[in-house]
Amino acid sequence: MNVADSDDLRSLLIERGCSAASGPREADLLVVNTCSVREHAETRALARIRELSAIKKDTAFLWVTGCMAQRMGDKIIELIPAVDRVIGAKEIDNLETIVDSALQMHSLTVPGEQKYGVSDFVSIMRGCDNYCSYCIVPYVRGHEKSIPVDLLEKAVHRKISRGVKEITFLGQNVNSYNDNGTDFPDLLRRVHCIDGLERIRFTTSHPKDCSEKLISTMASLPKICRHVHLPVQAGSDRVLQMMNRRYTSDQYLQKIDMIRRYLPDADITTDIMVGFPSETEQEFRDTISLVSRACFTNAFMFAYSSREGTEAASMNDDIPRQEKLSRLNRLIELQTGITRKIYENNVGKQLELLITGRQEKRDQLWMGHDKGCKRVLLSCEKAEAGMILNVQAAKSSGMTLICERIP
Ligand code: SAH
Ligand code: SF4
Repeated sequence: MNVADSDDLRSLLIERGCSAASGPREADLLVVNTCSVREHAETRALARIRELSAIKKDTAFLWVTGCMAQRMGDKIIELIPAVDRVIGAKEIDNLETIVDSALQMHSLTVPGEQKYGVSDFVSIMRGCDNYCSYCIVPYVRGHEKSIPVDLLEKAVHRKISRGVKEITFLGQNVNSYNDNGTDFPDLLRRVHCIDGLERIRFTTSHPKDCSEKLISTMASLPKICRHVHLPVQAGSDRVLQMMNRRYTSDQYLQKIDMIRRYLPDADITTDIMVGFPSETEQEFRDTISLVSRACFTNAFMFAYSSREGTEAASMNDDIPRQEKLSRLNRLIELQTGITRKIYENNVGKQLELLITGRQEKRDQLWMGHDKGCKRVLLSCEKAEAGMILNVQAAKSSGMTLICERIP
């Protein structure tokens, strides 16, 4: 989501005559777009802002945007006085006005050239109303709000006219999208008709709202990629309840079974957290057994960190850091083995590859992804970004399928 927001800001700046600097030392404006979902993200962002403030030109402007900007506000300027502006995530809809008034101070007139990739994002909603007990998102991004269908259709058309082939719809919980009765599966159907759009992806689905209507719609629409990102967070029902996730591990596994019934080849991925306050060794093992059972193609795995102002921040963060890291490593080891196996099982299979670009170092080596979420490399003389090709997986390097073109 932050990548998408950064892209939108970059487009705004380019449309107004800015062009990309060759590096931070040369830039007239530096923007650090921040995340605050984990403590680690904020620590890294602050370190980066300090580093940039030391190397930037004296005349250059330094802005901090996004969730950490929302959470800390002008405290960032107190900590790092070289920062000129702090623009919080809730101001994102006013970004155009903010940028216009800020840029009036400098007369930028030469229109820049915008380059687009073949795969791009469109945010379909903002904010979140779920209030999972550990999560800062509802506080820094505000209430859930769906963006009207006609604006989204326009955004998709605009991107396609610039060479985009694949769109990923973004929202903290796309399943609660609602624009005057148009729900998320309805939106998928509307966008599916757009000529020139080859593939549609989306993230994230909250398991409590991942409906049969959504999965059957996916199965009936060929442009929709066979990938569902379904964050489980934990395998213990007690922990899930404390997290306020509003499903049990059994209900979660039933959703997985439903997805596999409709879409047997789909990649299912997840987010998992370890070391939530009071999580016992046995409860961590419940997460381990759920992961063994669910067969995720991939997972984002994290150690819990307390976020000020959330419900869980008032719970005793009693799992020692070392124990959290040890649980995290055990989990990562298990999931890496499963990922490796899934990739190996795909060797010999035919896949539909979207080429997203050239692998930097090698002229004839192209990279992309299949219709699920698997990374693919293809050695091929005549190819270009944006092509969709039928390929065969020749071998697996663990996290990438090396493919050959089917003549
Ligand atoms: N809306 C998505 C999640 C967005 S945040 C959903 O509901 O699944 C992305 C991930 O960061 C979460 O899925 C969770 O695994 C992780 N995360 C959120 N808050 C966290 C915290 N306080 N500590 C550690 N990980 C956290
Ligand atoms: Fe955070 Fe839960 Fe909303 Fe996801 S659904 S953004 S985890 S509060």
